[in-house]
Amino acid sequence: MKAPLPINIWTEVQPAADCRLCDAPSENRHSVPVYRLSVCDLCWQQAQDGWPKEAEPILFAALAKAGLLIPDRNDRGLLPRQYAPPKDYAL
Ligand SMILES: [Zn+2]
Repeated sequence: MKAPLPINIWTEVQPAADCRLCDAPSENRHSVPVYRLSVCDLCWQQAQDGWPKEAEPILFAALAKAGLLIPDRNDRGLLPRQYAPPKDYAL
């Protein structure tokens, strides 16, 4: 006897989320696990030397939501694109 096909399958089909920083729908997205964000390719490239000031409220909110600490600013006074989180943060 064949098992009936399961009806409710939880799939990973998610709507293509827009970039969190510029709201651009983007195919090329970078996930930024330290901020729990994913952003478009353009924003990612522009943040090479630090996130733009306009992005900071979004970044702060994302960090707060995830219960993460705000990273130290880099030499340019910007939030770093990537940083090494404390070891006790499981990413
Ligand atoms: Zn973007």
